Amino acid sequence: MVATDVSKAQVMEWLASVPDPEIPVLSILDLGIVRDVDVQSTVTVTLTPTYSGCPATEVIESSVLAALKQHGVDDIVIKRALSPPWTTDWISADGREKMRRYGIAPPTPSKQVACPQCESLHTERVSEFGSTACKAAWRCRDCLEPFEYFKCL
Ligand SMILES: [Zn+2]
Repeated sequence: MVATDVSKAQVMEWLASVPDPEIPVLSILDLGIVRDVDVQSTVTVTLTPTYSGCPATEVIESSVLAALKQHGVDDIVIKRALSPPWTTDWISADGREKMRRYGIAPPTPSKQVACPQCESLHTERVSEFGSTACKAAWRCRDCLEPFEYFKCL
């Protein structure tokens, strides 16, 4: 199969199955990092990395290559678009809901971070850094559950 046989919609559907390596319940589409897909003689996927220096970027790029190759697309160009920079606003509503169900508080511009378990706003930050630099460790004072907060950017 040559690249011209596939449609952009088809490529988007395949990309929807590529997980974020840090939060595997989220696809890279949920995360909002796929800026553009162009299907010409080659398939060009433009990605905007999340937090700069996040090691996830290279993992995501190789996952995208693998996902498209698996569907017979060999002519692939991956571009990185650094401007405008990714912001947590690009995470889809669906993605935020998946994040909450996974137990991670989605980014909020509010200082009050809601507990993903019981939705209480009676929460406190334990540490600026959680399991990765993108997340902070929080704790709920009502249900006493620790949780991670995906930091707003
Ligand atoms: Zn709670």
